[in-house]
Order: sequence, then structure tokens, then C-alpha cells
Amino acid sequence: MEPLADSYGRRIKSMRISITDKCNFRCAYCMPAEGLPWLKKSEILSYEELEHIARVAVSIGIEQIRLTGGEPLVRRDVPEFVRQLRQIEGLRSLSLTTNGILLKQQAKVLAEAGLSRINVSLDSLVREKFAQLTRRDQLERVLEGLAELEKYPSIYPVKINAVAIRGYSEEDVLDFVRFARNKAYVMRWIEFMPLDADQIWCKEDILTGGEIKAIIETQYGPLVPITTGDPSETARRYTFSDGVGEVGFINPVSEPFCAHCDRIRLTADGQLRTCLFATEETDLRAVLRGGKSDEELAATIHQAVWHKELKHYIGDKRFRRANRSMSMIGG
Ligand code: SF4
Repeated sequence: MEPLADSYGRRIKSMRISITDKCNFRCAYCMPAEGLPWLKKSEILSYEELEHIARVAVSIGIEQIRLTGGEPLVRRDVPEFVRQLRQIEGLRSLSLTTNGILLKQQAKVLAEAGLSRINVSLDSLVREKFAQLTRRDQLERVLEGLAELEKYPSIYPVKINAVAIRGYSEEDVLDFVRFARNKAYVMRWIEFMPLDADQIWCKEDILTGGEIKAIIETQYGPLVPITTGDPSETARRYTFSDGVGEVGFINPVSEPFCAHCDRIRLTADGQLRTCLFATEETDLRAVLRGGKSDEELAATIHQAVWHKELKHYIGDKRFRRANRSMSMIGG
């Protein structure tokens, strides 16, 4: 079977798998303070079902899998699931995005299970600001989780992802740079996207990657671009003139990267999303629970990917909000 590609010729190699819609944070740019109605247990794919879809997806061209949520580590036995996925032949990279507060307990077992890389979402190093945005006073536990992770260098790189919001993030930028350079973390800022459940996003709230780069360069001078030759990379990566540390800017709004998008997503309830801003989904759970063959499952994924959206239309009159909010998609 042909490797996964869409009608625009984009080769699809990366799959993000949300293993739960639940989260122990209430980040204001993602979900309401009272949370959201969670999916019922029967709606959520078992690890066996998730592994089955992952195995078929890898057999038709997926090379990288990232586990997301909600907060993935609130689901039990994630290390065991990582171990299962690691057995899939052809899977080159297995990573995880987490808010970090359960990392101290799980760093060791995740490393032993074969996790390759990790992204930790952290929007401020200031306790009060952290608590204000996440509605949880848990900064200390996230920092403890990061410190614990340092004991397991097999998980590399460790990326810190901060959502950049105007009027909130500017004053943290240089603190984060110092923190990342001292700790050898890769620091990245992600522009605020209209995926919040409260639907309060407005373009005036966006602090662009270009603006953050300018703040950094006032202190450190011109940043030095890092080129990897991988067009599907979402971050614009830079190092410093002294070569210490790396920062990156993910600018889906000010500098969209859809032209080289290589990503698809699977939701915790088994829906295939071919774009973060998709308004329609393909029900792989029904295919699986309907007893269909691996060939039929593969054909269904191929069919969905062929119709993958060209791009998001943020800022354009054609823009339509996704049919789910961020915590139900998993970033
Ligand atoms: S908005 Fe959609 S097409 Fe664009 S980069 Fe994100 S997932 Fe890919």
C-alpha cells in the first residue's frame, strides 16, 4: 500500500494520539474553570485498541507518535502502554506531552519503557502567575518533575512549551531563557490559537514568535538559526551566539506551516482528525469495534488522509472553529 499522503502531496509521518480527555489542570486558554463533561469509559479506546490503530498506522507510513491528552499521565499504566508501542516495528520516535505534575513519580518508569522525547507544558516560572493561568497552585511539582527527568538522559530532548499570550507572557521570556540555558532544556513558545473551550480567543491576545524573539535579542543579541532540513518541523529553532541553549517559536498564526504539515491526530474516543482545526472526523472506533480487517482500517485512514485539509484559515473569513476544543484533541 502507498505510504500515507494527501491530495496536496504532503507525506504524513506523524500521529498524535490522545489517550484521555481528562486533565488535572484548568488552563484558561484551554478549558473552563469547572472543567468539561468527560467522555464515558465505554467511549474511550482501550490500550489494546489504541495499539492496534497505531500498529496499522505505522504499517502505512507513520514514523513518529506523540501521546497527548487532556493530561495523558492521569490515565493509568501509561508506561506499560509506552512499552507496548515500543514493540511496533517501524516506529522511529515515541514522545509525550504532559503538564508535568505527575512526572516525578513516572519519569523512571517512562524512561525504562522506552519513551524517546518529552514536551512539558509550562507557561510561567512565577508561582502566582502559574496558578492564575492553570487554576492550580502546582508550579513546584512541575519543577520537581523536570528535575527528576534529568536523571534519565535517554529521554532527550526535554522541551518546555509555553503558550504565548499578550499581556501575560512578555515578562517571563528572559526568565525562561535563563532557565532553559542553565538546564539544557529546549524552550519553545507557541502562539495562542482559537481552540479554547470558552471561545474567548481573539487575535489581539496573540503575542507572536517574532515579538518574543525580539525580546530575547535585546538581551542576547541576534539569535542564530538552526536548520534541520525537515520542512515539516513546526518550530523555528535558534541557538545563541555563545552556542549555549536552544529556543524555538511555533507560529501557527503569524507564520503558518500548513504547507509542510505531516500530522494527523487520533482522539481518545477513536476519531481520526486530519487537521487540528478539522470540523469533521473519521470514526476509527466504529471500524475497529465493527470487526473490520486491518486492510479495511488502513484503507479508511488512507481515505481520510487523502482529504486532509489544506490549511487553517485563522484570520480569514473562511475560518471555522474546530468541532472540539484543545483538551478533546490533545494538541
Ligand atoms: S492547522 Fe492543520 S494543516 Fe495546518 S499545520 Fe496544523 S494540523 Fe497541519
